[in-house]
Amino acid sequence: MATLEIRDLHVSVDAENGPREILRGVDLTVKQGETHAIMGPNGSGKSTLAYSVAGHPKYRVTGGSVLLDGEDVLSMTVDERARAGLFLAMQYPVEVAGVSVSNFLRTAATATRGEAPKLRLWVKEVKEAMERLQMDPAFAERNVNEGFSGGEKKRHEILQLELLRPKIAILDETDSGLDVDALRVVSEGVNRVQATGQIGTLLITHYTRILKYIRPDHVHVFAGGRIVESGGAELADKLEDEGYEAYTGKGESA
Ligand code: ADP
Ligand code: MG
Ligand code: MG
Repeated sequence: MATLEIRDLHVSVDAENGPREILRGVDLTVKQGETHAIMGPNGSGKSTLAYSVAGHPKYRVTGGSVLLDGEDVLSMTVDERARAGLFLAMQYPVEVAGVSVSNFLRTAATATRGEAPKLRLWVKEVKEAMERLQMDPAFAERNVNEGFSGGEKKRHEILQLELLRPKIAILDETDSGLDVDALRVVSEGVNRVQATGQIGTLLITHYTRILKYIRPDHVHVFAGGRIVESGGAELADKLEDEGYEAYTGKGESA
């Protein structure tokens, strides 16, 4: 059973006026089969956490560790992390000029599975996954994220999630900018993957509304670059009523 262990993680970025510490000691364990929600105000460092685990070069780890089944994630390259079973759905998915969705997905699946999926089976697999996400088949021939609407970008992230079958998935504000129908389709996709029991999910969100569709086992409040409170699903209900005000200021100085 796969386990992601984040221990006392400190991360800095190089800002114009020198290094700036964004993550100040994050502790979190996510196991296959579990869903964790990380909720916090804008600018609290949620995306920094996601990018640091995924291996974005802009984020410099200055302390702590990230282990996947005891293996040191921080010493792995980005593609080694993906092959090890880590997946990141980005808050702002990037365009990949000249690369079609279908080529992109097959290349990614080949890299993470270690061999090219058999073409006929693969075509069927993609077609069925796209149908479940209510995506137009013509979408497969478009270039990745080029001219995609917000909802199309997020559906495409969940399509990758369904096809790549990671052990641990980090979904960074996959709910942001979605209308209610798209939110439901995207949430159903996450729930389908979660129902396999083969994935641990770290659902990063600013709003509580996605938690009406995806019930987390654990909820963590993120403020000032660290987790300041953890609880069960009821903590999300409390945040819905009270907002983040009680937490901002907490965890601000070490
Ligand atoms: P969240 O996802 O919770 O909204 P982020 O992780 O995006 O927060 O950002 C946390 C803080 O780090 C913000 O104050 C942001 O401006 C700052 N930050 C993030 N990336 C950089 C960067 N590359 N250079 C300077 N500051 C950054
Ligand atoms: Mg933000
Ligand atoms: Mg963010």
